[in-house]
Amino acid sequence: MSTYARDIKDSLTFFVFVATTALCLSFTFSVFVYRLGVLEDPQRFLFANLVVAACVAIPTAAIASQHEFQLKRYQRKLEALASTDPLTGLLNRRFFRISAEDELMRQRRSGGMAALVLLDLDQFKLINDRFGHQTGDAVLKRVAEIAYSELRGPFDKLGRWGGEEFVILLSNLNRDQAWSVCDRLRQRLESTVIEHDGAKLSVTASFGFEMLTADSSLDRVVESADRALYVSKQAGRNRITYAGPRLAA
Ligand code: GH3
Ligand code: MG
Ligand code: MG
Repeated sequence: MSTYARDIKDSLTFFVFVATTALCLSFTFSVFVYRLGVLEDPQRFLFANLVVAACVAIPTAAIASQHEFQLKRYQRKLEALASTDPLTGLLNRRFFRISAEDELMRQRRSGGMAALVLLDLDQFKLINDRFGHQTGDAVLKRVAEIAYSELRGPFDKLGRWGGEEFVILLSNLNRDQAWSVCDRLRQRLESTVIEHDGAKLSVTASFGFEMLTADSSLDRVVESADRALYVSKQAGRNRITYAGPRLAA
């Protein structure tokens, strides 16, 4: 269910809750009035009750639930602003870490493996120098879109680690599968021609990854992936390195 649909459902629940409370109050008030003998005819009493319900309970509930809905939307906007990188719309480093820690906790409960991938665009400074910073920004956005489209929707997490460096958390897969995902993305980037302001350019990326297990510490895994990334750069770029025990932090 989308967050929009969930917010509408929550507001409707809130509506029912407020309306029921208001109806109970108006009913109690009417019983009180009835007992005072102001309205002795049961039919008139029932009619008065319905009028009070329509005039008080429903508008009160409608206003309250609409207010609740707007608050929810506002809260979601703030959450989105706080958690995403403004240029690419990906998770920022802080929120990526939170998601990754959640994933680690989930793994500790259910077992399974995940991979943490760092990827850094190759010679990106040259793109800025040759085509300008705006084209550089457009390339970063396009790379984010490509990476997002290669991942498995809500299961994998993608973030901007900083500058021209991205981070991915691939869930429920083994080392070979993680390698395949990296290689698919590497090839896709290599073969994509990015057009911006009349310029056509392509970009490659170097990858480093490490597997996460139930007893991993996120910081150490990131450090290992970073070492592996460095090896990819040293070895000539546009390649993938698995950290493993050899490069473990
Ligand atoms: P390497 O292959 O070794 O990674 O080389 P590189 O040129 O990609 O790496 P370097 O660290 O020398 O340069 C990174 C460049 O990325 C420099 C910086 O201006 C650029 N950059 C970082 N963030 C942004 C951004 O948000 N927009 C743009 N346009 N450029 C950015
Ligand atoms: Mg780079
Ligand atoms: Mg870099």
